[in-house]
Amino acid sequence: MTRSVILSDLDGYQRHELLSSDDVETLRPVEARYAIGLTEFLANRIDPADEVDPIARMFIPDLRELDRRETELNDPIGDEQHTPVKGVVHRYPNRVLLKPVGVCPVYCRFCFRREMVGPENGGNLSSSELETALGYVRAHPEVKEVILTGGDPFMLSAKRAKSLTQKIAEIPHVKVIRWHTRMPVADPGRITQDFVEALRCEGVTVYVSVHINHARELSEETAQALARMADAGLPLLSQTVLLRGVNDSADVLAALFGALIENRVRPYYLHHPDLAPGTGHFQVSVDEGQAIYSALRDRLSGIAVPQYVIDIPGGVSKANAARSDVEGKAGDLSLRGRDGRAHPYKP
Ligand SMILES: *Cc1c(COP(=O)(O)O)cnc(C)c1O
Ligand code: SF4
Repeated sequence: MTRSVILSDLDGYQRHELLSSDDVETLRPVEARYAIGLTEFLANRIDPADEVDPIARMFIPDLRELDRRETELNDPIGDEQHTPVKGVVHRYPNRVLLKPVGVCPVYCRFCFRREMVGPENGGNLSSSELETALGYVRAHPEVKEVILTGGDPFMLSAKRAKSLTQKIAEIPHVKVIRWHTRMPVADPGRITQDFVEALRCEGVTVYVSVHINHARELSEETAQALARMADAGLPLLSQTVLLRGVNDSADVLAALFGALIENRVRPYYLHHPDLAPGTGHFQVSVDEGQAIYSALRDRLSGIAVPQYVIDIPGGVSKANAARSDVEGKAGDLSLRGRDGRAHPYKP
């Protein structure tokens, strides 16, 4: 298997004609501040003639990343406060996040963990740190599900992914493993049959949730990688971040969610963008998000509609972001229908 070349600095972007030499000089401070990375596979999917190319917007560094708003937080969803041992985030009793690696195949310019991920941020667990993290899960019988995230845990080799899966499967109270990954989009060729086999294990149910934000990211190769996982019996979910200039329209999201369903991926979450530093240019107002979401619910099959959520800054939990259809108080309730009207409901 050939590994995709990673564009790991601005010069790589220039070599691929995604930035001019002037751009590179202007963007040096962005490079100094945040991790940069793009696979050759995705770089080749950018159309330089398209001024609003969604892949370019998600992955080409932008000077506006240096603009810091007061409301933006280094740890927007409060991972830190819920980290009992390195690499574990335990916020809800029955499930934990386990972050075996701190690196990704690509660095999304809107990343909510941008202060934590990257080749220099020390997020990769050593084997003894991984043992300690697994020890924490073993010592907490209330944990039924382990969510592997990072970074991107699909950065592990098939061998290491298999060993991790087996170690988790051996913990009797853990019934479900959920991998969160951008790899099917970023470098689908890495999801080989061997890698898919490494994810399967007797005694535990394994889900894979794919981070994808635009139908343009669903290439033929990505569809094939998804099919390899679905054919192996792995249930597939998706997570999408609502992003200004990328997917802030019902048309764009309807095309994405419809295509995911056709590829056996059940859209799971539509995330309102987190207040990560230097991401103000991607922000959408909650009002706009709700209007887009209402339009989506009306046009898509129910199985194609994800839940629209916002992470409460500081890490309390996620909050439902959709407008409620139930209005009024007990005794005087009404239900808002697709006709836009409130219909009295008197049970
Ligand atoms: C989102 C999240 C989870 C998973 O929540 P689900 O609603 O089950 O997908 C778990 N832990 C943390 C810290 C989270 O932010
Ligand atoms: S893949 Fe996820 S963790 Fe990695 S840069 Fe993108 S949003 Fe951040």
